[in-house]
Amino acid sequence: MSHENQPVLTGPALWSAQAHLPSVLGRQLTVDRAEGSYVFTTDGRRLFDGTAGLWHANVGHARPELAEAAYEQMRRLETYHIFGRYLNDRAVELGERLAWLSPIDDPKVILNSGGSDAIDVACKLARRHWQREGRTDKTVILSREFAYHGLHAYGTSIAGLDFNRAGYGTESLVPDTARVSTHDIAAVERTVRTIGPEKIAAIVAEPIQGTGGVNPPAPGYLEGLQRICRENDILLILDEVITGFGRTGHMFATERYGLRPDLITFAKGVTSGYAPLGGVLVAPHIWQPFYRDSSDTPVFRHGATYAGHATAAAVALRNLDILDEDKLLPRVTELEQLLARELNALTARAAVVETRVAGFLGGITLTDDLSAEAVTDELVEHGFITRPLRGNTVQISPPFVTTDDEIRQLVAAIDTVISAQEAK
Ligand code: PMP
Repeated sequence: MSHENQPVLTGPALWSAQAHLPSVLGRQLTVDRAEGSYVFTTDGRRLFDGTAGLWHANVGHARPELAEAAYEQMRRLETYHIFGRYLNDRAVELGERLAWLSPIDDPKVILNSGGSDAIDVACKLARRHWQREGRTDKTVILSREFAYHGLHAYGTSIAGLDFNRAGYGTESLVPDTARVSTHDIAAVERTVRTIGPEKIAAIVAEPIQGTGGVNPPAPGYLEGLQRICRENDILLILDEVITGFGRTGHMFATERYGLRPDLITFAKGVTSGYAPLGGVLVAPHIWQPFYRDSSDTPVFRHGATYAGHATAAAVALRNLDILDEDKLLPRVTELEQLLARELNALTARAAVVETRVAGFLGGITLTDDLSAEAVTDELVEHGFITRPLRGNTVQISPPFVTTDDEIRQLVAAIDTVISAQEAK
């Protein structure tokens, strides 16, 4: 079909990420300043950041300590790569700190530039692990329905939101991927049997699904995944890109749910978004073979220019100090309880199907009579940023520095908007 006669819209030279462009052009909001839990736009709005950007601005926006950490680091050494025999001291220091915080005992830490990167590394390393073991059929990566693991080639291929996987000519951009049930562990077990455990390298799971609609795990589900992995020699990769570094009141959701994954991916909260950084925590049984003192020791041939970027590492170290100094993890637990109470009150509205809270992450699912998109659009007019997610759900995940009053104001605004739209 030719679309040649249809008008082409213009807009900024900058191509918006993941957007249906005709829907956003002409109504984009350009942020040019921020402070704490608020962002300011070029058209003069002051908006409460009810999503912490894309679940990343955990310690709040525009903190001078983090600006200073970056400035001081750049004055001394902006970065130096960590290929071959080179390292930089900041990346080494961050590795030590993350190893100390890690819920995996005695891990190695792979650093890179973000969550999608981390997922690429974790999936490649899982496959590399089984090739090295001589289990050459173990190439399949399983992920959950509704999962979001970023949109690099691997993240696209293991996306549980089908629209993110579609449009590239084959069912999966990287071969050998499949989806398992998100809530039903018996169904996961059946899928594993059907594919054959001897073909499966790893299962990837967000402990609490984020972009798929803020879906806390069904009771026993994550423990069930871990058992299936153990019984079948399948690696368990927990994607803690959202949940890592305090979002659930624990440093990692792995601790909250008492799990023992083989690999953990992280990003966002490690720097609270002040510098692009992500990575993977790797368990000893995976890393040790690559560290053996032997002439036939294999190489994990992965790396990028900005792996272990010194300025990003300096910012991460300061950000981790702030989590501690400001006692933000216990604060998240208080905020979780408050958010759960406040959102629960919304279920009195006919248009609210359900609210879900796990950690300082909330989802409000609406009936088909209302649209999450329309509700979030209207909330901007009231001064609040939220985000529509899959399943007609509104996302709430503010910075950890949010006050109780701000949570109450946000939920009051949501109530006002829903009630006005119910009346339409
Ligand atoms: N994994 C999860 C669970 C995520 O939520 C995201 C980003 N929202 C990613 C991976 C990808 O991270 P990034 O956007 O930093 O590449």
